[in-house]
Amino acid sequence: MKLLKHIKKHALPWLLPRACLICNKTLVGASSLCSECDKTLPFIECACIQCAIPLKGGTKLTCGKCQITPPPHDKLFALFHYTHPINKWIHQFKFYQNFSYAKLFSAHMIHAIESQWYYNKALPDILIPTPLARSRLWTRGFNQSIELARPIAQHFQSIELDFTNAQRIKRTKPQSSLHSNERHKNIHNAFNIKFNLNNAHIAIIDDVVTTGETVAELSRACRKNGARQIDVWCIARTSLHL
Ligand SMILES: [Zn+2]
Ligand SMILES: [Zn+2]
Repeated sequence: MKLLKHIKKHALPWLLPRACLICNKTLVGASSLCSECDKTLPFIECACIQCAIPLKGGTKLTCGKCQITPPPHDKLFALFHYTHPINKWIHQFKFYQNFSYAKLFSAHMIHAIESQWYYNKALPDILIPTPLARSRLWTRGFNQSIELARPIAQHFQSIELDFTNAQRIKRTKPQSSLHSNERHKNIHNAFNIKFNLNNAHIAIIDDVVTTGETVAELSRACRKNGARQIDVWCIARTSLHL
């Protein structure tokens, strides 16, 4: 039984013919995209280190807004612009349980963590997926941030995946349905941290960051409860500012 599980997990992706998610070309190996299509993805090349808002070239590391009002987290890393095909794939993953996209996103995140975000730097100690309200978890059946986090924590053995400490204690409306001035009020005091984070370096993981209010509020709760350094990882960043 154990052997069968092992074969299914490790050997099948290499034996079965797979097709590129974009061009349908037959693939070899475990990747979901061919190398040509992979290059066409809308990666964020240059962004503010604190809020990941894309910056137009140059060597500026922190945007003007973060220099005036720094966000409560230390760093925010985003893989992609929230645009085609990433927006469609995130939708497919969240609302149609298409987990092949989640695997692709996690694999890209592992690559970015190793080659860019933490190249020659210490990795976080704890990975905290943004919690969903219980009612939303029941409707969706899974928390997309936990699904993204699992393969990353498996890959980096030194990072502890903790999806029980942070809880969503307030029923909030979807942030996307609100005006920017209502978003802070909606998410304010939405999170509870059960156990002190004991001076840990943590990373919060979420799928999309739009205004940043959700990850900012979770960061505030983690900071109040002992987190020393707080980084945020997300798949995609919209071009709206915090
Ligand atoms: Zn392709
Ligand atoms: Zn910024």
